[in-house]
Amino acid sequence: MLRLRASGGRGSAPNPAGAPPRTPPGEMISPGPPHQESALPTLNRSGIPKLEVAGLTKVYRDGAVVAVDDISFTVESGETLALLGPSGCGKSTTLNMIVGLEQPSSGDIRIDGRSVIDVPAGRRDVGLVFQDYAVFAAMSVRDNLAFGLKVRKTDKAVVRSEVHKIAELLGLTECLDIKAGRLSGSEQQRVAIGRTLVTRPALLLLDEPLSNLEASARPAVRQELRRLQQELHLSIIYVTHDQTEALSLADRVAIMNHGKIIQAEETLRIMQFPGHVQVAQFLGSPPMNILRGRLADAEGGVKFTHAAFTVLFPACTLPALVRERGANKQYALGFRAEDLTLVPPEQGLWQGEILGVEIRGGDAVVNLSSHGSPLQCVVEHKLKAAPCAGLPPTRNAGGCNPSGLKTGTTLTAVRSADGLPAALENPSASGDFSLSKGTPVGLTLAPETVVLFDGDSNLRLESAFVPVPQ
Ligand code: ADP
Repeated sequence: MLRLRASGGRGSAPNPAGAPPRTPPGEMISPGPPHQESALPTLNRSGIPKLEVAGLTKVYRDGAVVAVDDISFTVESGETLALLGPSGCGKSTTLNMIVGLEQPSSGDIRIDGRSVIDVPAGRRDVGLVFQDYAVFAAMSVRDNLAFGLKVRKTDKAVVRSEVHKIAELLGLTECLDIKAGRLSGSEQQRVAIGRTLVTRPALLLLDEPLSNLEASARPAVRQELRRLQQELHLSIIYVTHDQTEALSLADRVAIMNHGKIIQAEETLRIMQFPGHVQVAQFLGSPPMNILRGRLADAEGGVKFTHAAFTVLFPACTLPALVRERGANKQYALGFRAEDLTLVPPEQGLWQGEILGVEIRGGDAVVNLSSHGSPLQCVVEHKLKAAPCAGLPPTRNAGGCNPSGLKTGTTLTAVRSADGLPAALENPSASGDFSLSKGTPVGLTLAPETVVLFDGDSNLRLESAFVPVPQ
């Protein structure tokens, strides 16, 4: 459920604009200036403030914990930026500093070019929606929506009209006189968002707003948020550890890890061109495969020498940049699981062994080991029932046509002792191979799908293998 944070997280600063107090809900936030305008300027407003974060750092325990480590980024007017990273990487601390609940150890935060470091929370014009619940259940929806404006001693007629506008925008008009606690979960989410939006924040911060929702309810709420983004044209920072949320809602994604921003990039580009091995290994489901080793031009292609095996990538050469760096450099080769193809062992550029198969909706992830290195490959999985002599029928039984396998090959899910699908197997055994645990397979990969990273800095190199027309 989308929830408004009521009072400071770990910090002790007062509440941000529009947020009701936590428990007990009695203490008022420091009111901002009286609110007199009657229009809802978040709609089609021009000159939406831009956020600039410069060299922001937060340390705790005299520097023993560096929660946020010298990060800089901007949020353009009307843009949604997702801060995406694993738990504990510093996302919430960053938001808390922007809203004013935490004082930075160093760095600056500017809204529309003006530093807000010395502006108290509640006067920064920043709205915050947190994952934990803070709608007043015993109050009517109308009173919940009016809360932030009343705190600001806004003219009563303005409060009435603003509450009606926001209720209409969020589809809450019919519910205005109902107690918030009697509403459904998704209606309460809308009340929570409305409470923040009615204060017309220049910047909206959403901290893991979907994480308390059932997985099945999230797509609808994501859709609702997308509609609001488009209609209100707000500047938003959306904090999440869930890449599906980040990729579906944000214009740009900033990947955080260990208090740092590793890469901030347009959503589509960051998937396609991860700038760092850590980003490659974080984004995607499954994330990119990474193999480390040396590279050299060889007869007929590029030779990749891993500690345990070699691969000759045919019909390509090394980019000049790699050749100029000499032979002793380490590289990390990144390639998507969707680009790796399984073939019979003798047909592979190199070999691996099946560890197991995870069946997903329409495809399956094959977990492999290649001379000790874990790799993953995605194969198509058509859920078509196929009889299989000698094996119990399973709902995962299906005719699969994984890339690299003969069209029409029948693969059937085999259940392990614990009842979970353990492998895909070809029961017809007509010259094809099975995908059960321990089966040796060949691996192929088009050289142009390989992303090259410097093995020491882990940064992506400008160019990758250069295909040579045959
Ligand atoms: P995220 O939101 O990405 O999960 P947080 O910003 O909550 O991460 O935390 C970042 C790091 O800072 C974590 O290691 C966390 O334990 C630490 N941290 C956050 N607040 C405090 C605090 N008040 N005192 C000490 N350490 C803290």
